[in-house]
Parts: sequence; structure tokens; C-alpha cells
Amino acid sequence: MQNVPEEEEGSRRRTGETVVGGKGDPEVRKDGGEQEEKESLMMELTRLVQKMVKESSWWERRGVDCSILAAAFLCLPPAFLLLSSSRLLVFSAGVLLMGLAHAVITIKGTHLASHGSLSESQAWGKVWAVFFIEICGSFSARAGVHGHIKMHHAHTNVIGLGDSSVWKVPCLPRTVYLFIAPLAVPIITPLVALAHLRGHSAAVVLRTMLMVSLGLYSQYWLLVHVSGFQSPLSTLLCMLVCRAMFSMPYIHVNIFQHIGLDMFSPTRRPKRIYQMTHGVLNLPRNPLLDWVFGHSLINCHVEHHLFPFLSDNMCLKVKPVVSRYLTEKKLPYQQDSYRSRLRLFFHRYQELMVFAPPITELVGVQ
Ligand SMILES: [Zn+2]
Repeated sequence: MQNVPEEEEGSRRRTGETVVGGKGDPEVRKDGGEQEEKESLMMELTRLVQKMVKESSWWERRGVDCSILAAAFLCLPPAFLLLSSSRLLVFSAGVLLMGLAHAVITIKGTHLASHGSLSESQAWGKVWAVFFIEICGSFSARAGVHGHIKMHHAHTNVIGLGDSSVWKVPCLPRTVYLFIAPLAVPIITPLVALAHLRGHSAAVVLRTMLMVSLGLYSQYWLLVHVSGFQSPLSTLLCMLVCRAMFSMPYIHVNIFQHIGLDMFSPTRRPKRIYQMTHGVLNLPRNPLLDWVFGHSLINCHVEHHLFPFLSDNMCLKVKPVVSRYLTEKKLPYQQDSYRSRLRLFFHRYQELMVFAPPITELVGVQ
């Protein structure tokens, strides 16, 4: 199991303001009893989750999510065929189907592949990471895994490390950043991948460039030869529309769930369970986003940050246990609606997305 839990101690106070009690809080100590004295909160929670994982079938652990991804791939042939129609309604259905399938593959698929959650074998995990991140997602698998796993997950909300500042573009006004710039994500992604390749071995650079080109060219080729697109411009435009269909919620979800929450100093970081419960937020369930992004990015983001090796379906399964446990221990279990976060980011854009975030100190738990 990843991220070895540590001993949690002490009451938690935000600088200048009491947050809620911890183990040192008399109220919590009363609830926890003798057993809690002997083990940390994270260890106790990990044991509960591990028990559920052991009791789950392969279908629950990986099968459900692999099937959703397989269904997305199966949607591609009908999507290419629908795009060959000259009737507007049928053509639009093709664009919609292609956009949906592409989003499931490149958001849910790349995220699970970056965590190695699609296979129990490490070698296959690497193959899936290259397939989903490079061929389908037009990004570098090396940079993707490093940025997401080694920085964002390992240092969630730690200033200068995993503080989500890569998502900030302070020069852009809020309306442009939130609603217009995301449409350029499909163009920016391979360019950022190229920039990240500097310093890597020639073999990695060559592989990434070949894989990204293969992914882009295969979609272009199929649009020309299966869907019958005539001009290069209309083909590229169709690719852009399909690939940008979920770019806006993609950017939104990435900033909504961390920015504006507690941020920590790299030298005085809290224990893992406090870091994740204070620095991560869940959005409510939404059938479309659940399928396209996966539970770990939407309604189980807290669970995902506490147990990043779990698949989307397993995050959903352990969610009641995790939320009950955190509530019982008087730890935060942060949730907010998409609309409320959008309103917050729109009205406090300068404070959240332009200025440097303030640091929270959870006294007694560092
Ligand atoms: Zn993740």
C-alpha cells in the first residue's frame, strides 16, 4: 500500500483560527477510545479500506472501469461513420459521440493509466500509460506521471510543489481563462509535451513524438478515409471540436478541487490525513462527469487523494466508509457544488488565480 501512514498527533489550528479537533482534542480522544491511542488515524482508515479492497472482486476493482473505457473505444467506429453523413443531425450526433468517447479515453483513461490502476502488472501499466497519455492524450507519459503522481499527489497543496499553480495563467482575464482559453487545450497539450521533453533521453523524446504523431495522424486519416472529409482545414476543425468538447469542465475541475483550500509550507507540512482532508474537495455526483472524468476526479476526489491506487469504481465503493470515518473523527470532508465553485472562482478570480495563496499552519500536527 502506498504512502505509509504516520502517527497523527495534536489538535489542529489554522493560523489565528481554530479549525476542528484532532486526536489531542479531548472530545476526539473520548470518541476514539483506547485503540486510537495505539494507532494513527490514517492507519486505521487504511485498514478499513484495505479490508474492502480484499473483499472486492476483480470486476469491482478493475472490471467496471476497464469496461467503460472499452465502451468508449467501441463508440469510435459508429462515430466515424456518423461523421460521414451529409445530414446535419446525424453529423452532429457523430461529433457528439466522438467528443464523448475522446473525453472518456483522454480524461478518465489517462488519469487511471497514470496511476497504474488499469492493470496489476507493472509492465502492462507502463504500456497503458504510453498508450493513453501519449497516443490518445497527445502528452508525454513521463511528464504526465511525474507531474500528477510525483508532484500533485505527493505534495498536494504544498506551495511550490503540488500547489496546482501550473493551472494558473494570471495574465488572462477571468472570462477568457474560465470560458475561452480551455478551447485551446487540444492545441496547447502537445506543445507543452514538447517543452517537457527537454532534458530527456533521445529514445524517450523520439518515442513520445512518434506516439503523439501516431495518435493525431490516425484520427486525421480515419476522418479522411472513413468519414470522407475533403479539405484538411475541415478535418482539423472537426478534430479540434471533438477534442475540445470537455476542455472547459476539465480545466474547471482541476482548479475547483484544490485552489482556494488550505495551502501548506514545504517545511511545515501536516500529516497526510490532515493534508488531504484540508486540501481536497469533492464535487457532487453528476452522471455525465462521473462517466467522462471518473469518480476519482469528481465525487471521490478526497478518497482518491487518500488512496490513489484505487480505481474509480473502488473509490465510489469505499466513499461511505471514508466519509463516515472522517466525520466521526471530526476531520473535514469537504464538498461543494460545481455551480458554487464556478461562482467563487469567477467572483474571487484575482485572489484565487492571480495572487499567491496564503499558507495554512495546522499547529500541532506538522
Ligand atoms: Zn490522481
